Amino acid sequence: MRLVTYTLRGWTSVGVVDDGLIIDVPRAYAMLLADRGVSDAPGRALAECPPDLVTLLARDGLERAREVAAAVIEQLPDKRDRFAAAGIIAALDDPAVQLRPPLLRPDKIICLGLNYADHAAESGAAVPQYPELFSKFPSTLIGPGEPIVLPRVSQQVDYEAELAVVIGRPGRFIPADRALDYVAGYTILNDISMRDFQFRGRQWLPGKTFDRSTPVGPWLVTADEVPDPQNLTITTEVSGAVLQHSNTREMIFPVAETIAYLSQIVQLVPGDLIATGTPAGVGFARKPPRFLQPGDVVRVTIERVGTLEKPGRG
Ligand code: MN
Repeated sequence: MRLVTYTLRGWTSVGVVDDGLIIDVPRAYAMLLADRGVSDAPGRALAECPPDLVTLLARDGLERAREVAAAVIEQLPDKRDRFAAAGIIAALDDPAVQLRPPLLRPDKIICLGLNYADHAAESGAAVPQYPELFSKFPSTLIGPGEPIVLPRVSQQVDYEAELAVVIGRPGRFIPADRALDYVAGYTILNDISMRDFQFRGRQWLPGKTFDRSTPVGPWLVTADEVPDPQNLTITTEVSGAVLQHSNTREMIFPVAETIAYLSQIVQLVPGDLIATGTPAGVGFARKPPRFLQPGDVVRVTIERVGTLEKPGRG
């Protein structure tokens, strides 16, 4: 199942994507409850299928979302027009639909640096002994339909394709051999990095969290569709040129070990977003360097997850 966060005509919500349609989970659930004669159907729908994916995950709502979408799909042949008029379905390619980051305000955004040996080498860094951690603020996240802001103060805006893990249930001191049970699903994160700011000091944060610079999406793909997160091709194209091409099997710290390690430090909670690092081929390490310019289109593709694409804007 693929879940998007989207905005349409002032309504921001969670939808299941199926066959080119977005099925709005809270609205569809309210309709199903009303059809069954449940009192206060809209209120109960908002409580059990909230229009925010972080909250939906926290309320253990993935299976309910799956059932709601299946019920809508079953009734589509008879009720397509009624559903469209009620905002229960929308076309994914409707120009009025704005895809947002799947998680609008995660409790935590945790990122790994130097998690592929070839990228550590091109960066002139040693292979880390422990996961190299930094974080981002939620204000940096943008959806796949939104332009990356190229800040006027940086001349070195760089791309980094990354598999991102979304946590599905709370956990502390999670053993690595059970860590994937805590994963709700996967998405793609382009860890846009302002290299001139990143390398001014010892902490990378200044270069990693500029407002509205980190595309995420296009959706959350549930974990059942990604049985092995360590065998996915990962590719970045910048304005048509393939500049990164690798496989998640090359990670130094795999997803399960990363979750186990992080959960020694903090309790992981539903909606937490973990970016797992980028392979070789980033712009600053190329000869000559290749930094993003106004008009560039950056497209990141991860097998089984999807394609995240955004136009740059000056
Ligand atoms: Mn990165």
